[in-house]
Amino acid sequence: MVPSYFFFYLMEASAYNAYVIARDTNPERVKTMWPTFQNYLKDLVASLVGDTRAGKAAALVPEPARGTVQHTIEKMFEKKKTCHECSLAAEPGARRGVTKFGCRECNVPVHTECQAKHITRCINA
Ligand SMILES: [Zn+2]
Ligand SMILES: [Zn+2]
Repeated sequence: MVPSYFFFYLMEASAYNAYVIARDTNPERVKTMWPTFQNYLKDLVASLVGDTRAGKAAALVPEPARGTVQHTIEKMFEKKKTCHECSLAAEPGARRGVTKFGCRECNVPVHTECQAKHITRCINA
């Protein structure tokens, strides 16, 4: 039989891990909601014992912060396609880049030269 203090130690350790991860993922929100780990633990325990403040438990899983999505440019197409960023930016008559590369998250062709432009646009969108 595992002594119960061991169980609580494990609980607290994994709660602390969750807190650290949440704080890393969404520092602003966690700072406002749970300035210390004790605040977090109190909310966590409250949600575990069936506290009826709806939404509190859901809030323990922070949404990913904006801008954390990786817009990785990788080979996506068998045939070259017109780069999405180039066609957005192109002045009439300007040469548009064609590419087999694209952004998985956005599912649009983006040629490697335009990766920075694409990421900036997506983050600010
Ligand atoms: Zn381009
Ligand atoms: Zn993208």
